[in-house]
Amino acid sequence: MKTILKNCKLVNSDKTEIYIEDGKFADKFDEKIADEVIDVNGRTVLPGLVDMHVHFREPGYEYKENIATGSAAAARGGFTSVCTMPNTNPVCDNAAVVSGIIKKANEVGLVRVYPIGAAGKNLESNELAEIGLMKEAGIVAISNDGKPIATSGFMRKVLEYSSDFDIPVLNHEEDLTISDGAMNEGEVSTSIGIRGVPTASEDIMIARDIILSEYLGIPVHICHVSTKGGLRMIREAKARGVKVTCETCPHYFTLTDKSCENYDTNFKMHPPLRTEEDRLAVIEAIKDGTVDCIVTDHAPHHQDDKEVEFSHALNGIVGLESSFALCYTYLVKPGIITMEKLLELMCYNPSNILKLGRGGMNVGDDADLAVFDLDNEFVFEKDKMLSKGRNTPFDGWKLYGQTVLTMMGGKKTYELR
Ligand SMILES: [Zn+2]
Repeated sequence: MKTILKNCKLVNSDKTEIYIEDGKFADKFDEKIADEVIDVNGRTVLPGLVDMHVHFREPGYEYKENIATGSAAAARGGFTSVCTMPNTNPVCDNAAVVSGIIKKANEVGLVRVYPIGAAGKNLESNELAEIGLMKEAGIVAISNDGKPIATSGFMRKVLEYSSDFDIPVLNHEEDLTISDGAMNEGEVSTSIGIRGVPTASEDIMIARDIILSEYLGIPVHICHVSTKGGLRMIREAKARGVKVTCETCPHYFTLTDKSCENYDTNFKMHPPLRTEEDRLAVIEAIKDGTVDCIVTDHAPHHQDDKEVEFSHALNGIVGLESSFALCYTYLVKPGIITMEKLLELMCYNPSNILKLGRGGMNVGDDADLAVFDLDNEFVFEKDKMLSKGRNTPFDGWKLYGQTVLTMMGGKKTYELR
């Protein structure tokens, strides 16, 4: 199968054509022997995006999302690789669940799915999960996401054991003893009478993980950072050579806790939306390289889990289909970062941290790419989403950067119609 993409705009290259042969980027060949010639009309072609933090809910919660609908949503967002968190049912804490997810994802064939295995059996912080066997089955990282790796003793064990298997540890940063709340603790939570989660809950755990990483000399990756204090500690740790990396999400630089004022549960997630000061700190940390990755934390829920009282609603929002457009509209378009920098955040860095080997567009690399319309505004509509989840705070937002086409291994996985 031979495909040519014509009239492309590439980042850092004057080339206007892309050649694909048998699923790989190829050297130029004659248009006459091409099976398909796609005119992308001057749109921007990027390497397929990588999201190292999603929840696809299968096995166990297929009424929220399944591997097929999650994969379709990823492809629509321009993603060609995603890493799935282990808080499924059964929990992804053994090789059988890992193999099952990979098998299903391959059958669906819309995105490369790299499972993340649980650190502790059943996401608890007591007994180690089968990390070695899960690695053989195909996991790319260890995490208890949804929950923190709760105690310092267990975190130390997880870091040491995982490092023996050369597998990264990603931690959801939350001190459960002070995080019993439904939104950020502050002026807004007080004024609307909702119990708050202090930034200290996140910051204390980030401090602990930096201290352990530095003491043991083992890398640690900090999930979805939302606080100014957390980012300050990560920046300082990096400066003195600690092997710490981190991620944030589009909602932490586009929204604040003020959005919770009308009790809309589509603004409820964990960590919660913070203050304007934190939002600006997230942008600063993206700019100065403190933040390594932007992830979605795509967390689909059924409406029955969300259409309840704010305090009782489940945490999380969907993100795969809005992420690139939010990043482009709010970071690249206003000139805060360049497109090259956005590619580091949404493709190269996550691929490097997890050793996925993605993002290449040289001859011989897998033809994973996404085409975006950066020039025309579009309205993001929740009813057009391919995810089963409808829990987005971005319905009706006017954005730039709509996905036009996604290809994984030279195969079309999404096409705008
Ligand atoms: Zn989390």
